[in-house]
Amino acid sequence: MPFDGIPEGFLPGPRCPRCAQALREGEPTVLMHFANDREGSAGVSHRYHAECARPYWDTITPVLARLSSFRR
Ligand SMILES: [Zn+2]
Repeated sequence: MPFDGIPEGFLPGPRCPRCAQALREGEPTVLMHFANDREGSAGVSHRYHAECARPYWDTITPVLARLSSFRR
């Protein structure tokens, strides 16, 4: 098997910039856009785990409003 030896938890695909863990399908996530990284080229505007995004919610009230509707 060519992929033997890949550490557990290593998954190709998007990762949460805050905790560096993979974003797994079915997990609650939030797509964050920051004014200082509109294109996402700095790796800041990205999809985060909902819990990882929580510290940023104070600055992005519209996203908070959307998220609350998802979590019911
Ligand atoms: Zn995370």
